[in-house]
Amino acid sequence: MTSSSQYISTRGTAPRLGFNDTLLAGLASDGGLYVPEEWPSVKHGSTDAPFAQRAAEILAPFVGDDIDSHALAAMCRDAYATFRDSHVAPLRELGDNRWLLELFHGPTLAFKDVALQLVGRLFDHVLTARGERITVVGATSGDTGSAAIDGVKHCANVSMVILYPQGRISEVQRRQMTTVHSANVHTVAIDGSFDDCQDLVKAMFNDRAFRDQHRLAAVNSINWARVLAQVVYYFTAIEQLHASDSAPVSFSVPTGNFGNVLSGWIARRIGANVGHLIVGSNANDILTRFFETQTMSAAGVVPTLSPSMDIQVSSNFERLLFEMNNRDGVATAAQMTKFRESKQLAVDAATFGTWIRPVFRGQRCSDADTLAKIAEVHRRHGVLVDPHTAVGLVATDACAAADEPVVTLATAHPAKFADAVAQATGERPALPAHMADLFDRPERTERLPNDLAAVQRFVVSATATR
Ligand SMILES: *Cc1c(COP(=O)(O)O)cnc(C)c1O
Repeated sequence: MTSSSQYISTRGTAPRLGFNDTLLAGLASDGGLYVPEEWPSVKHGSTDAPFAQRAAEILAPFVGDDIDSHALAAMCRDAYATFRDSHVAPLRELGDNRWLLELFHGPTLAFKDVALQLVGRLFDHVLTARGERITVVGATSGDTGSAAIDGVKHCANVSMVILYPQGRISEVQRRQMTTVHSANVHTVAIDGSFDDCQDLVKAMFNDRAFRDQHRLAAVNSINWARVLAQVVYYFTAIEQLHASDSAPVSFSVPTGNFGNVLSGWIARRIGANVGHLIVGSNANDILTRFFETQTMSAAGVVPTLSPSMDIQVSSNFERLLFEMNNRDGVATAAQMTKFRESKQLAVDAATFGTWIRPVFRGQRCSDADTLAKIAEVHRRHGVLVDPHTAVGLVATDACAAADEPVVTLATAHPAKFADAVAQATGERPALPAHMADLFDRPERTERLPNDLAAVQRFVVSATATR
């Protein structure tokens, strides 16, 4: 059926790559993000197919001949066997025309497991076939690091070094990383902020000799395979609702880097029966302001109760911008350069009316509204939701019609953000059984100053000993 599936950069000048090279490349060499050269069309499937089977079917046209279909199906089965719910991403009804899509049944209790359990296996598969090794370096403000570590902890060909800001992530988040004792996994507490950690990672990637010598790779949310893996649950949610041929289903997505909601846009683009995409933001509301003013304007980051959405610039937006520019990479590159310099990016009315207004809705949500929503859902439905999910629910209320079917993505387990949930409800959600002893497990971590040379020395020693 398909032959080779090719990827091009949103900035127009990096080489075209196949799926496997795109997987390993992360960022394109011209600074852009990889997108498929052509969008395939994908049909809705059976309402009772297992999630792993639908994942393999939906991914196949994007992977092309780069990975044998049996191997792809086996990796999907293995990845989703790590989820505690047999449906992987089950729906829970929350009143008329409203559902939660529970994406937090994976090993580290956040939706990022859906992508990273598969991406770890894809890395290993491709590297084993090529006889190569890579070193993944990343910075985390909490959820990405733990999901990435769990995804690669069994990968023989991947070493991983994750930097996190000392004292600035929750204890559950830290312990989820520091209690993994695989020889290939290393965590480093940096005396600095999350931005300092990110700057250290960027500096390592910009040191070309260092990057090439240690085959540095990234697993941040701009990685194409992560975005792709998340497309699957938009299809399966609609299929579970038996809504493939009825009224379109809207999705409300608590949003930070625009990765998850972009996956929803892609699902819609390739054939899923998706209606509106509702973007929920916390006080870091660059996207909500964009929907209101047609201008993207970056501001400083404010800490909130939904820390995984405390992001100044949503990097995956560039993939949508490329489409809005009718796939003109040169125009997109010029816009991104201007945005970096002026912190402003304006879209003309015609483009906005074609691409944004018919599809996207946006709503911001304060910490007070977040707590009130957690309390209300608990009171009315007896369900505990985490603060990120609560932001999505507030956005659903604000943006959807009463008769519009809406699925709100539940992106984290309430126990991962137990303090906020307890503050709102007086009830402290318990960790699932497989993590009940998390606070008794021994931790292993390194502590380093905010100093590039020290971190590079550590990466060298970590990759040498594995
Ligand atoms: C990462 C994360 C988000 C934001 O997802 P994006 O893809 O960055 O928009 C929302 N909620 C939780 C719990 C997360 O971990």
